[in-house]
Amino acid sequence: MSNASNYFPLKVELEYSYSLGALKPYFDALVESRALASRCSKCGKVSFPPRIVCDNDQTKTEWIELAGSGEIIEFSTGKDANGERAAFALIQMSGASNYCLGRLEELDLDVGDNVRIHALDMENTHPAQRIVFKRM
Ligand SMILES: [Zn+2]
Repeated sequence: MSNASNYFPLKVELEYSYSLGALKPYFDALVESRALASRCSKCGKVSFPPRIVCDNDQTKTEWIELAGSGEIIEFSTGKDANGERAAFALIQMSGASNYCLGRLEELDLDVGDNVRIHALDMENTHPAQRIVFKRM
């Protein structure tokens, strides 16, 4: 049997290096506000974010660069991890076969608005956390 007096608060912090792995070209492009996608040589599916192998037929994909713009399909507002109001959206990137999920730079954007990928100037932050979509 256990009860609350058997436990005490303990904070554990871990610091480690996180490898970007096979998706490094994608992350390197993100911090330059560029959208690198993958294209399947067999079925032609273009995925953003990219996939190493196609989810239709498991064929190895190749890199292609998209224009970096897209359209808001749906969005939701809430609070981010810091308690700040934030808007997140499903975005159809021009040239991609799928939707991607992204944070919007502004809260007053709407379905149908055109947006562009943009990297925030944030040192020592994972590239995926530096990306917002801003109004075009
Ligand atoms: Zn395919």
